[in-house]
Amino acid sequence: MKLFLSIITTMFISCTIFGQDAMLCTGHYWTEDEANLVMKKFASEWDDLESWEERAKIIRQGIIEGMQLDKMPLISEKFNPIIHSSREMDGYIVENIAIESFPGFYITGNLYRPTFEQEKYAAILSPHGHGANKRFTDDIQYRSAVLARMGVIVFSYDMVGYAESDQVIHKMPIALLLQTYNSKRVLDYLISRPDVDSERIGMTGGSGGGTQTFMLTAIDDRIKVSVPVVQVSAHFFGGCVCESGMPVHKSANHQSNNVEIAALSAPRPLLLISDGGDWTRNTPRIEYPYIQNVYALYNAEHKVENVHLPLERHNYGFSKRTAAYNFFQHHLKLRFNIPYDNGYNEDFVTMLTPEELKVFNEENPRPNNALQGDQVVMEYLGIKLKN
Ligand SMILES: [Zn+2]
Repeated sequence: MKLFLSIITTMFISCTIFGQDAMLCTGHYWTEDEANLVMKKFASEWDDLESWEERAKIIRQGIIEGMQLDKMPLISEKFNPIIHSSREMDGYIVENIAIESFPGFYITGNLYRPTFEQEKYAAILSPHGHGANKRFTDDIQYRSAVLARMGVIVFSYDMVGYAESDQVIHKMPIALLLQTYNSKRVLDYLISRPDVDSERIGMTGGSGGGTQTFMLTAIDDRIKVSVPVVQVSAHFFGGCVCESGMPVHKSANHQSNNVEIAALSAPRPLLLISDGGDWTRNTPRIEYPYIQNVYALYNAEHKVENVHLPLERHNYGFSKRTAAYNFFQHHLKLRFNIPYDNGYNEDFVTMLTPEELKVFNEENPRPNNALQGDQVVMEYLGIKLKN
């Protein structure tokens, strides 16, 4: 017990140095052994719903203040959507879309919509992980099209600095804030649409898209169903500035990690998809039991699930997608109208080229008010990093 406490104390002393850098928990911040002990320490901080909710409030506040979301000026309620190239495919429609996150900053993506008539549809935010032109990859197109055919309006959008989001570079200082704010704006936009049922909103992404998913779900209860894929880890905090480049996990007064941030989803339905080949390898033993205990406080054990695929690696491939389809179908009350033959058959999806999916092109240029460059965007927002 003494050794346990001294390890914990040593870890916490490192948090008491003031300044942003001292508050950052990045990448493999803890070893797996350390994380196991830390999870026990976290668990000792609460023992009933009231004490958990007190802790949850501190963690939530730590995210918002750590990424300075509370400093974002309220600059526009408008989205000024640009939507074109609507194409009807086999059971779904694809459109190219941009909306303004704030004046002069564009969120670029694609909308996938159902073809069948209904007054209101469920909606899903679909951010992606790291990888050049990721939005245009087969994995993203499959999951967007399949969910659309099931009855969802899916908004698939670029990480900042990837594909068409080239007003800033990806590894810029406030990437974590910008991406979270963009996700919030995508959510605002979806809810503003008359054809979206605001009670049936989901979010899913893999890897860095998983980080975006659990971050927004933690701080915005309008996300009703959350599926972060291959990312929730007790020991790994995300290796990129867009995941851990701002101090969202600890402050002078608290220390948390992505397991607790994911647990802030409770009691809303949450599916953790994990695999045997990355930092989610311990999920059935470490991360999932902790989150289950939080859900139990709300008598909502049945709303949190883990699909662990020990033979798989770090991706959002077919078997992970099919787990997500089932979960969304159940919790968003979707149709099961995907061809099925000992598993889902995604062959009805037509792959489109990046040129076909791009919202900005010669006929539809990016508007002239676009801010360009990291510094220009940061100055426009008045966001400064804490020293
Ligand atoms: Zn990143």
